[in-house]
Amino acid sequence: MPDRSQVDGARVLADLNALRAIGAYKTGVHKPTFSESHMRSLEWLMGRLPEAGLAPEIDGIGNVLGTTEKSGPKLLAGSHLESQNFAGWLDGPLGVVYALEAARVINPDTNIKGAVEVAAWCDEEGHFGHFLGSRSYVGALTEADIDAATDRNSGRTMRQALRDVGLAGRARAMAEPGRHLGYLEAHIEQGETLESGGRKIGVVTSIVGIWQYRITFNGQQNHAGTTRMAARRDAGLALAKFCVAIDDRFPEICGPRTVWTTGRITLNPGAPSIIPGGAEMLFQIRDDDPRIIDRLDDLLRSMALQFGADGRCTVEVERIRTGSPALMDETFQRAIEAASARFAGGSCLRMPSGAGHDAQVLATIMPAGMLFVPSIDGISHHWNENTADADIVTGAEVFVEACRDLLSK
Ligand SMILES: [Zn+2]
Repeated sequence: MPDRSQVDGARVLADLNALRAIGAYKTGVHKPTFSESHMRSLEWLMGRLPEAGLAPEIDGIGNVLGTTEKSGPKLLAGSHLESQNFAGWLDGPLGVVYALEAARVINPDTNIKGAVEVAAWCDEEGHFGHFLGSRSYVGALTEADIDAATDRNSGRTMRQALRDVGLAGRARAMAEPGRHLGYLEAHIEQGETLESGGRKIGVVTSIVGIWQYRITFNGQQNHAGTTRMAARRDAGLALAKFCVAIDDRFPEICGPRTVWTTGRITLNPGAPSIIPGGAEMLFQIRDDDPRIIDRLDDLLRSMALQFGADGRCTVEVERIRTGSPALMDETFQRAIEAASARFAGGSCLRMPSGAGHDAQVLATIMPAGMLFVPSIDGISHHWNENTADADIVTGAEVFVEACRDLLSK
């Protein structure tokens, strides 16, 4: 089979290590959005883009884009450069460096028509909101959204942060309809599916939707010593029973990969000698099939009615976030599979993504695809996050080859 990709594996690893050195923390990095280390990482990228024949630009929300005048079809590729707090070195940078490498290989090659353009989307990790950078680019972020955004750790407003880093008042880059044939993103898997299955490349079929609920229990606050058990209306106990009931009932009708989590429980007033009069849980369901979510949503509400029927506590289910699953484009999936056949011995696997990524936002306006590389022990959002060097290079080969393939269609 002819060799085509021409990735420089040492260059890819050196770039990733250069980004790891900026804001290094233990074996990972600490780069919250608009921190000094995040901004230096964006500057690093802007310094590299001209090597790929790309003109670098940072916009009014902190997105870095590298664009070219080269004629022919254009593929957009990228990921993000900020990190979760005290987290890993590959979540984000891997996809940005692969995109940069694809542009360096493809753009100067006069035998290839078209080019790869590179993006680093700001705040994918959600320090200020949900996908603010990529949503801005697709036209799904208003000025009022930016006014309302604040850093979940420091409380600094997004407006202040933009002033602090010198981006206030700058125009926001918007997608040009028809400019790109699609968007390709690479990412570490952040799970163990590839490693445990001995596969090198994940071909993402869809990115799950996230549905989030606030479930509120109201009973009667009372004295923990003098109130007889039979007379109690304990909202905390009702909540605990409800959690257990969810785990009993959901498996009857969920899908093979549905996951659900009670991430936070609050008891009111939350004191050892007081029977809780109120209780609240934040509950999340993820799946890539909206029909399954609909069934689980119905079940959750009917369970709430059943729980309220004994008269002890009322249960209120409020849906506070819905996210449609994003389907990845079939042509992109086939291109990744074909590239895996050449450069990963065909060791690939179609799989949904349980984590959110910018590709789900880009997928709302153009065909999108994603590929995963294995995460050692499935660890991510931790400084021990890692991928074997050989797997990083294999992923780069597959990524660049898939870009070539997509541009030639
Ligand atoms: Zn990420």
